[in-house]
Amino acid sequence: MGGGQLALMMAEAAGAAGVELTVLAASPDDPAAALAAHRLVGSPRDPDALERLGDLTEVVTFDHELVDLDLLGRLEAAGVVVRPSPHALRFSVDKAYQRVTLAAAGVPVPDFVVAHHPDDPELERFLDAHVDTVVKAATGGYDGRGVFFCRGATEAREIVARVAPAVVEEHLPLDGELAQLVVRSVDGALLPYPTVSTVQANGMCVETSFPAALDAARRDEAVALATRIADLSGVVGVLAVELFDVAGRLLVNEVALRPHNTGHWTIEGARTSQFENHLRAVAGRPLGPTDPVAPAAVMVNLVGGDAPARLTTPATPGVVTHDYRKTWRPGRKIGHVTALDEDVARARVRAWEQARACGAAPAEV
Ligand code: ADP
Repeated sequence: MGGGQLALMMAEAAGAAGVELTVLAASPDDPAAALAAHRLVGSPRDPDALERLGDLTEVVTFDHELVDLDLLGRLEAAGVVVRPSPHALRFSVDKAYQRVTLAAAGVPVPDFVVAHHPDDPELERFLDAHVDTVVKAATGGYDGRGVFFCRGATEAREIVARVAPAVVEEHLPLDGELAQLVVRSVDGALLPYPTVSTVQANGMCVETSFPAALDAARRDEAVALATRIADLSGVVGVLAVELFDVAGRLLVNEVALRPHNTGHWTIEGARTSQFENHLRAVAGRPLGPTDPVAPAAVMVNLVGGDAPARLTTPATPGVVTHDYRKTWRPGRKIGHVTALDEDVARARVRAWEQARACGAAPAEV
């Protein structure tokens, strides 16, 4: 796996999951590598580094999508156990493949077209029908990078020329956004986490809240969708489904095959965190229960502002600050806060208060 905050939180969960973690990190002073039982320095795209990782471990897993699937396929063919498998990982590495596969399986998704070239006739037809579009680079994007909101065909074509292959979709009037996490074991057993509401600003998730602002029937629908996608992809580990709530319908925006920002609240808020359960799943261990431990939980991301943040600011009981130990930079995710409470409105107030006290509250929406 790679360094970064997800690896850091996985390293923190390794003991509880009963696994010994070896982190492949870009730099020896990576915080996750420092915490892991063993470390290797190298790039996840370097065949030699991956081969060494395969030699040293029983299972290889990832905390990001920036992987080389051919390389992983060769590693798997050489006997290294990769979970999720390169076949499943294609789902999250390639947004175009993901969208086409979901639509073909009848999963509700926004109206879209895959464009390989600005003069694609299919793109032409799509842009005739939709003025406001969102163009998404098929690979390499995250946290809103690679996502472009366009007005009119000329702008959309210009972006497609730059980033193709791309998914071009209708710009929807969203009533809300949600996320549904599930964890799937090697033998296909599956447990859902509680559905959460999410808030995004500038393409980045700023807040997630449990319980989701959704009636019970539609929460069941979110779980059913994520279960279907998990089985369809053959994932082992955590799978996160980002959903749009539009005019009473749930549409699948995006799927990630790894622990996800919208599941960070489970560290304090669920009986087994998404990080522990991901490690349990990929290690072939039984999954832990995913039930919530409090009636409400709100997570707010901490983002670098104009001045360095103060992440050691003491918090009130029930509020926890996570410091990713990253160098401060304006706009960079540097940690998160989770507040547990009896009531979601109160949890929200307390989480944002702490984020502001740390000097790292994201832009409010
Ligand atoms: P990333 O992979 O970078 O997270 P997403 O596809 O999730 O990119 O898009 C980021 C955010 O942009 C979404 O959470 C949503 O707020 C907004 N967005 C994306 N696609 C659409 C769309 N078709 N209509 C309206 N808003 C969208």
